[in-house]
Amino acid sequence: MSMSKEGQLVVPDAVDIPFIEGDGTGSDIWAASRIVFDAAVKKAYNGKRSVNWVEVLAGEKAQEAKGTMLPDETLEQIKSHFVAIKGPLTTPIGTGFRSINVTLRQVLDLYACVRPVKWYNGVPAPVTHPQDLNVVIFRENTEDVYAGLEWQSGSEKAKKLVHFLNTELDCKLSSEAGIGIKPMTKANSQRLIRAAIKYSLANRSKSLTLVHKGNIMKYTEGAFKQWGYELAASEFSNQTITETQATENPALASGKLIVNDRIADNMFQQILLRPSEYSVIACPNLNGDYLSDAAAAQVGGLGIAPGGNINYETGYAVFEATHGTAPKYAGQDKVNPGSVILSGVMMFEYIGWSEVGKLIETSMAKTIESKKVTYDFHRQIPGATLVKCSEFANEIVTHIEKS
Ligand code: NAP
Repeated sequence: MSMSKEGQLVVPDAVDIPFIEGDGTGSDIWAASRIVFDAAVKKAYNGKRSVNWVEVLAGEKAQEAKGTMLPDETLEQIKSHFVAIKGPLTTPIGTGFRSINVTLRQVLDLYACVRPVKWYNGVPAPVTHPQDLNVVIFRENTEDVYAGLEWQSGSEKAKKLVHFLNTELDCKLSSEAGIGIKPMTKANSQRLIRAAIKYSLANRSKSLTLVHKGNIMKYTEGAFKQWGYELAASEFSNQTITETQATENPALASGKLIVNDRIADNMFQQILLRPSEYSVIACPNLNGDYLSDAAAAQVGGLGIAPGGNINYETGYAVFEATHGTAPKYAGQDKVNPGSVILSGVMMFEYIGWSEVGKLIETSMAKTIESKKVTYDFHRQIPGATLVKCSEFANEIVTHIEKS
């Protein structure tokens, strides 16, 4: 792949796409996902288009082969191919090694974490009407408390900071306080919100909701809201309208994207009590982390939730399983490959091969409806047939071939 001068991704008919298999259950999940991807590409294009999967190493496999969890050549390969897909990776605890997932996002500046959340017929869900929730969450991926600026309680640096804050900035902090810093910038907030607005307009979404905790954190979360409204007014004034303006003058709202905001705690009850009122959501990093998992759980889809980390300007994108490596099931051909499969759907849509995405999504939905499911769904669906990870994929392939 390459980027055109106009900033469009150029995708050849025979495209190389790097993949990271992932640790733990990653090899089972990747093998299952790959046969689904290949079957869908073949069905959609009958040989006119194809994917050459290029393995790049990260995690335990890279540690064994290269002596490092994230070799430079892996980053170079992803950059030169623009788009990659990955299974889950282990984050070693207590070794001082930063999460590979976080490192990938930061090094490639993948500022938007995009998580579509919707219900698939037959998926056991904890709410009465899971079908009412159908949202796409855009989570800022590079700053906020994830910037990693933290000092341990009682450490020299924490004491130094507390002293500075108390003496220079009139704070009244305990000398024993642990300190964390939450940086958020206008430029990084607005590029995320811009991507969410563009997505909303391209998909004719009803509304774009800015989720924040600005009532408490005025100059970070509150600023995120403010910067969002300013951006909508300055760059998308003909296509957007605020909720307040639309309420005052409904005629003006016709055909326009409604931009509104919700305080984060309210948003958690809104998606439960009034889910159908929301479509695209933009939020800072920490809110987005909580909200995307809560929303996925609401539709019963935590185990199959897809995700993409994207920089819309450079074109770099890494699509990934949102669950972890589930190490206790490694090598058992047991777990649900749905998260990587649906991340593949996002990836094919991103590169403009939407026929492939649609085929996969419809066929996976049919497989779940037929109640042939892996252990995680099987234990919750009365009368379901238990299938292995690979068998679940084969069922999807059968539906692809029949369609
Ligand atoms: P986890 O691997 O997500 O597993 C937690 C539980 O979730 C599993 O025991 C299993 O539940 C269920 N689960 C996970 N994946 C599943 C699948 N594909 N199909 C069905 N059920 C699935 O979380 P963890 O045990 O906290 O983390 C393990 C490792 O993964 C850690 O090193 C962590 O850092 C890493 N991690 C990586 C990513 C990523 O690469 N994106 C994300 C999160 C965590 P039951 O026990 O109920 O069967």
